[in-house]
Amino acid sequence: MAMADRAEESTPTPTGPTGQAPRAGRGGDRFFVAEPIEGDRAVLAEAEAHHLAHVLRAVAGDNVTLFDGSGVEYAARVVKVSRHRVELEVVGRRAVDRELPVELTLAVALPKGERQKWLVEKAVELGAARFVPIETVRGVAQPGLPALERLGRQAIEASKQCGRNRLMEVCPARSWAELAKACPSATLRLAAHPGGGRAPIDVVPDPLAAPTIVAVGPEGGFTEEEIALAAGAGWTVVDLGPRILRVETAALALAALVAARARG
Ligand code: SAH
Repeated sequence: MAMADRAEESTPTPTGPTGQAPRAGRGGDRFFVAEPIEGDRAVLAEAEAHHLAHVLRAVAGDNVTLFDGSGVEYAARVVKVSRHRVELEVVGRRAVDRELPVELTLAVALPKGERQKWLVEKAVELGAARFVPIETVRGVAQPGLPALERLGRQAIEASKQCGRNRLMEVCPARSWAELAKACPSATLRLAAHPGGGRAPIDVVPDPLAAPTIVAVGPEGGFTEEEIALAAGAGWTVVDLGPRILRVETAALALAALVAARARG
C-alpha cells in the first residue's frame, strides 16, 4: 500500500463533543486479538469472530477497533468474514492510556457464580491491574482453571466495553496467609474487616502514588487470626462503616476510593 494511502487511513476517528474518542457505532466497536498485532493483518477467531461476524453482522469494509493488551489500539477494516474467522487489515495505530496511574491489585475471597463475574467486570471498569482470588479459612473453594478462564474472558469483555487497552490480569488463587506475608511493604496494603479498623478515607493518601493492594474476606469474614497475621505483616486494617457489605461491594468501594485518590 502506498504511504499516502496509509497516512490518510491512519487519521484518528474524529472526537465527539466531549473531546474523547467515540465509543459507540461501528468505528467504536472494539475487539480483542490474543496474539500481538504486528504488520497490517489481524485475524479474529472464536468468541471475538462470533461477536463481529454473527452478532454485529460485519461485512467487508466495516471499520472496527482492535486491541491486543499491549496498550495500543488499532484502527482496522474487515477484509473477509468466514464462519469462524474474520480477517482484517490494520490501517492505523495509536497508544491510548486508560490505565490508573497506580497499580491496583484486588485480592478477594470470591463470592459465587454470577457475582464473581460481576465483580470482575466492575474491577476492570475501575482500573484494577490485577485480580487475585484468595483462599481463606472461612472461604468456599476458590476457582480452578476453567473458572479462571471464564473470569479472564469476562475481563476481556469488560475491557472491550470500557476502552481499556491493557487487560486486568486474573491470577491463580493464592493462600491469604502466604500472600499477606509476601506482599512488599512499599505497597499500600489494606485489609477490609468490619469493626475496629481505620476509615479508608483516612488511610489512602491524597494524591495516591504507591501501588496498592486491597484484600476482602469471604462471606463468613476473615478470622481474627487472619487479620492479626496481616496486621503483624504491616497491613492496615480498614473498616467500611457499620453495615456489613457483600464481598463485591466492599472490594469495589475500596477500589473506587483508590481510583479517585490516584486521580485515575
Ligand atoms: N460475616 C462477616 C462479614 C463478612 S462480609 C462478619 O459479620 O463480620 C465479607 C467481607 O467484606 C469481609 O471479610 C470484609 O473483608 C468485607 N467487609 C464487609 N463489610 C465490611 C465493613 N463494614 N468494614 C470492613 N470490611 C467489610
